[in-house]
Parts: sequence; C-alpha cells; structure tokens
Amino acid sequence: MTSQRTRERLVQRLQEQGVADLQVLDIIGNTPRHIFLDEALSHRAYEDTALPIGHGQTLSQPYIVARMTEVLIGAAGRLDKVLEVGTGSGYQTAILAQMVEQVFSVERIKPLQDKARDRLRRLGLRNVQLRHADGGLGWPEMGPFNGILSTAAPREVPRELLAQLAPGGALVIPVGAGAQELRLILREDDTDNFITQTLESVKFVPLLSGTTR
Ligand code: SAH
Repeated sequence: MTSQRTRERLVQRLQEQGVADLQVLDIIGNTPRHIFLDEALSHRAYEDTALPIGHGQTLSQPYIVARMTEVLIGAAGRLDKVLEVGTGSGYQTAILAQMVEQVFSVERIKPLQDKARDRLRRLGLRNVQLRHADGGLGWPEMGPFNGILSTAAPREVPRELLAQLAPGGALVIPVGAGAQELRLILREDDTDNFITQTLESVKFVPLLSGTTR
C-alpha cells in the first residue's frame, strides 16, 4: 500500500482534480505520507482523504495540501521564507520544505509537534524551524514572510498574520466557522493594500488560541 504505484495513482487523481503544478505533483509523488500517520492508519495514507492524527486533529487531504501549496507558490513568486500555522503531522510542512528556502511552522499541541519534528528529521529536511506557540499570533521574530499558509480555520483572518506578510507576499487561509472558504490574500507590493480572493469551500479544524502541553 505504500508502494510507488500507489503514490502514482494518488498523483494522477490530484491531476484529475485540477492540480497542475508539476513540481507540487512530483514532490507529493515522492514524499512518503504513511510515515505521518500512526501505524494502524498507514495503509490508508495514499487515499485522497483527511485522516486522524490524535488530539482531535487531522492530517489534511492530499488534494487540499496540493491545492494550497500550488496557490501559495503561484501567488507569492519567490518564497524564501514561509510561515505555516498548524504543523499537525508535519506532512504539509514536509511538502513546503521541498519547495521553499525556509519553513517556520507553529503548532499549539506539544505532542503533535514532537512527532512532526521526528518525522521531518527522518526525511532529512533541515530547512524547517518548529515552534510550540499560538500560531494565530504568527512568529513575529522571524517575519516578515513571503508566504503564510494556515492549516486551521479562524473565524476572521488574524491581523497579526496580515502584519507579518512581506510586500508582494501571499496568505492562504481557510476562514469561517461551520461553512468555511479558502482565501488567498495578497499584500500589494508598494502599498499596504490587501487583495482577497475566495477560492473554494473547505473543511478544516478550527484555529484555537493558547497552547497545550
Ligand atoms: N498541516 C497539518 C494539518 C493539521 S490540522 C497536517 O497536514 O497534518 C491543523 C493543526 O493546526 C492541528 O494540529 C492544530 O492543533 C493546529 N492549530 C490549531 N490552532 C492553532 C494555533 N492557534 N496555533 C498553532 N496551531 C494550531
């Protein structure tokens, strides 16, 4: 179930759903998703579905990981610094780390962060820094970021994330309670203007404040 053929089938499915960025497809095809799951679920790793990772959280569906990554890369151009809010299993982090220079990822649940750290290390991805904190506040010491990607949904876009977006940068974020929409927010180059596009309906876990050990 974890064979190259199984992964190729997943990539084909993503293409059929409209994911077009060849680098994104290639990286998804070559990144083992099963190591981001508990063993009991690893046989389902290459299904295009969200899966539980404990603590009431989920590993995002591959389609949504691919889509958010391609939107971010397409919108922000040069991506030397990217902030991810919601490390979770670390799978989205691993995909990003293979596409951009540096990834900063924040998770509020410590045991999830610890597991993600081990997996990223196993994959030899060294351009990732993890932080245990409330990612709704961003990571001000490391900003501004060319790209910000949130894998948890706030009711409103946190102003701290907008403030940490570099000129020309892009924020990809699910927004809303219950019914959620995926938004792409661009910070214009020479002004403080933000341009918002709504992309599609999505279903993410909520962005919660504070941290747990
Ligand atoms: N990208 C992850 C998705 C995990 S689900 C993956 O593919 O595995 C979203 C994650 O966001 C959860 O782990 C949840 O704990 C985390 N989260 C929710 N609110 C947060 C916050 N304010 N700061 C940091 N992480 C948060």
